Amino acid sequence: MRHTFYDLEKIKRDLKGKYIFLFLDYDGTLTPIVKTPDKAIISQETKRLLYALSEKNNCRIAIISGRDLVDIKKMVGLKNIIYSGNHGLQIEGPKIKHELAVSSGYKKILRSIKIQLKERLCGIKGVLIEDKKLSLALHFRLVDRKQLPFVKTVFHEIIILYLAKNKIKIKYGKEVLEVRPPVQWDKGKVVLWLLARQKFAKAGAEVLPVYIGDDITDEDAFKAFQRLGITILVGKPKPSYAHYYLKNPDEVKELFRRIIKF
Ligand SMILES: [Mg+2]
Repeated sequence: MRHTFYDLEKIKRDLKGKYIFLFLDYDGTLTPIVKTPDKAIISQETKRLLYALSEKNNCRIAIISGRDLVDIKKMVGLKNIIYSGNHGLQIEGPKIKHELAVSSGYKKILRSIKIQLKERLCGIKGVLIEDKKLSLALHFRLVDRKQLPFVKTVFHEIIILYLAKNKIKIKYGKEVLEVRPPVQWDKGKVVLWLLARQKFAKAGAEVLPVYIGDDITDEDAFKAFQRLGITILVGKPKPSYAHYYLKNPDEVKELFRRIIKF
């Protein structure tokens, strides 16, 4: 895996004359990783760069986040870009609005899991339960490492029967466990869907997808674009489906500056 800037001239050649579809994760990609999700605030500079990119007539931006749609839209606060929340279960943007329909039975299960998690983990410092409407996240970044096995065991005890009956799915992220609807839909599926839609709208133009993300859940998108576009992992190089890496969100910003000038 090579550093993105090492191959920048090649990337520039690949992007030349193409319509660029820039897919971006939010936490850890556009903002540094922080202790609690509400503290991951996007800088004015990053926002300015995203705006400049979105105004280019050969570029479209989509933010693909695990956050709830309302939350991610509020955090970024820009028009003229596509937002996808809950790892693709929700999509909203210019001329597009879609949300996966879930059953009332699933919603009931989610509520029940939330109540049980609260009851059994309320004594553990640092546990954060985030209700994202279509999914439920258990964050444990701030939990004492000695208590982690207990927290994870409780989580699995609560969810195991629902999981066995295929009523829910479980997703593992960075210091987070998530309960999701039992559907085959992830960041990889949603980016392929958005790309196909864009290609249809831009009939004739060559659309090149670029995906930048830092999390385990971004691997689905890296894999989906392995032969179709350019994929960039944010963080230290490691086994990944991504072609390139950038060290941190500051380097992501620098890449935006370069693309604006391409
Ligand atoms: Mg992330």
